[in-house]
Amino acid sequence: MIQRILVTGGAGFLGSHLCERLVNDGHDVICLDNFFTSQKTNVVHLLDRPNFELIRHDITLPIFLEVDQIYNMACPAAPGHYQYNPIKTIKTSVLGSINMLGVAKRCGARILQASTSEVYGDPEVHPQVESYRGSVNPIGLRACYDEGKRVAETLFMDYHRSNNVDVRIVRIFNTYGPRMHPYDGRVVSNFIRQALVGENITIFGDGKQTRSFCYRDDLCDAIIGMMNVDDFVGPVNIGNPVEFTIRELAEEVIRISGAKSKLVERPLPSDDPTRRRPDISLAKEKLGWEPKVPLAEGLQRTIEWFQSINLDDYRAPTPNYV
Ligand code: NAD
Ligand code: UDP
Repeated sequence: MIQRILVTGGAGFLGSHLCERLVNDGHDVICLDNFFTSQKTNVVHLLDRPNFELIRHDITLPIFLEVDQIYNMACPAAPGHYQYNPIKTIKTSVLGSINMLGVAKRCGARILQASTSEVYGDPEVHPQVESYRGSVNPIGLRACYDEGKRVAETLFMDYHRSNNVDVRIVRIFNTYGPRMHPYDGRVVSNFIRQALVGENITIFGDGKQTRSFCYRDDLCDAIIGMMNVDDFVGPVNIGNPVEFTIRELAEEVIRISGAKSKLVERPLPSDDPTRRRPDISLAKEKLGWEPKVPLAEGLQRTIEWFQSINLDDYRAPTPNYV
């Protein structure tokens, strides 16, 4: 059935792909974004589609819309982006969630929150299961994002319990792919950009810290699945459980791109999680989902996209780490 769907943060890396998928499925899609970390080019190809609408709006302010489903994706996600204005980051997670939950409550819409593996902080439990309550430094540089997302989960559960709002919560682990902002400072975008322009690849710390990288299309399959499953609120981990060290990722980017870049070590940012890997048993059980795209294939597609863009078209909202 055709739904009226709101995607907040719909011009971003994940949001724009989600909008594209939902438009192609025939839904009426409203993309709402304040373009803090994204640009209109991510959705410009959708503007002439009759079932797509673009609104410039900041979710920390109220808005009145009539929709059936809401994907709440709005929030800066790269460490350099969310630390740029940490107070605004918290407001986006907290005030933004309250505003969007208000829309859902008024319309009787189902609302999905894009939460994060960062709710686990620097985890002592490995791999991370949903029942693990996390180890977040509440006064650290990452707290504006981690604690904001934790409060958002609390708000979602309280609107669900107190006001019967139909909520869904997904905890997204590191996801990469085309339309990542080339200057967002995230590891995949940084390494690919550095490799393609012939710069050294910057390994923070000794590069032994791990992440598990999920390709964008797999991620979108899972969140659309979660939005449309009945009788399951979550939270559910969504990510690729294959774990790599950051040094292995750098070597893979060099191998696939054929770059001549050298690896150079730079200081490790504070509170950088040491190990991260999702346990996805719950997603498999409830959604029948597991990722399909291996890292080498996803990196190949992402590198091809980076080769197709003009880096000068992207503004750098934050200073680089190096
Ligand atoms: P992104 O920065 O590309 O997208 C976020 C979008 O939200 C941008 O278009 C930005 O302009 C918009 N936005 C930010 N603040 C806003 C506000 N106050 N009002 C309206 N729009 C606002 O990042 P992404 O990787 O696409 O992440 C999307 C969502 O998924 C985020 O909520 C993020 O926390 C979550 N997430 C992503 C990952 C990942 O690895 N990509 C991992 C965990 C969670
Ligand atoms: N990282 C790195 N070099 C870079 C960017 C990031 O070594 O140029 C490391 C970073 O310290 C972290 C990992 O890569 O250990 C993932 O960083 P990212 O910012 O992508 O996301 P995080 O999972 O930390 O939120």
